Amino acid sequence: MFIDSHAHLGDDSLFSEWKEILERARLAKLDAVVNICTDSKTLERGLLIQKSSPAIPVYLAAATTPHDVEKEGDAFFKEVVEAASQKKLVAIGETGLDYHYEHSPKDIQKKHLINYFHLAKKNDLPVIFHCRDAFSDLFEIADSEYKSPRALLHCFTGTLEEAKQVLDRGWSISFSGIITFKKSIELKEVVKYAPIDRVFIETDAPYLAPQTKRGLRNEPSFVVETAEVVAALKGISLEQVAEQTSKNVRSLFSF
Ligand SMILES: [Zn+2]
Repeated sequence: MFIDSHAHLGDDSLFSEWKEILERARLAKLDAVVNICTDSKTLERGLLIQKSSPAIPVYLAAATTPHDVEKEGDAFFKEVVEAASQKKLVAIGETGLDYHYEHSPKDIQKKHLINYFHLAKKNDLPVIFHCRDAFSDLFEIADSEYKSPRALLHCFTGTLEEAKQVLDRGWSISFSGIITFKKSIELKEVVKYAPIDRVFIETDAPYLAPQTKRGLRNEPSFVVETAEVVAALKGISLEQVAEQTSKNVRSLFSF
């Protein structure tokens, strides 16, 4: 029923018990997880999970995050190229720009974003964006290098105006447990505004556990709480949210 469109199962804290985590996800009525691989280790772990008969199917996306591109972007890029050419990925990502932390210099972040755009186009794959405090540059670069509707803004925390610009480009928006927090007032308006056929739900596990699980390590089964908030804000049933968001994931990622 539900699909967690963004989790990091290769993170040490989840990988140590991935079998149990995916079994709990199955019991919570998830029927797939999109696992985001951000380096050699997590890509290797993702491939291992896939071939070890997980309780529910696990699909892979890969890219170096904007945080780490300076340190390891060049080395991992070659592995992403290879995995994409071997049809092991359903998307390129998470890539993008993060000017909030700026762990890597802006020009290096931009360079890698452009490389990933070209890789996505070459392999006919969608892109998953991580974007924080950098929307104007993301839009500018995408408008010249990636004129495609096949993109997903993961863990959206921007303004309603930024959401409109995302949707104008044909991209979709993914909401994490952040929408369950009481203080997320403007973000709740974005949830109401975004058309349900462009809405995705995700955990971003192990980070960002939802309101009732705050402080705990996040895991895919907790995505249901985010779905409940989407249902309440949109005035539709939980089943409708599950059905439509899963359809959206399967359509963008072609599985
Ligand atoms: Zn992530």
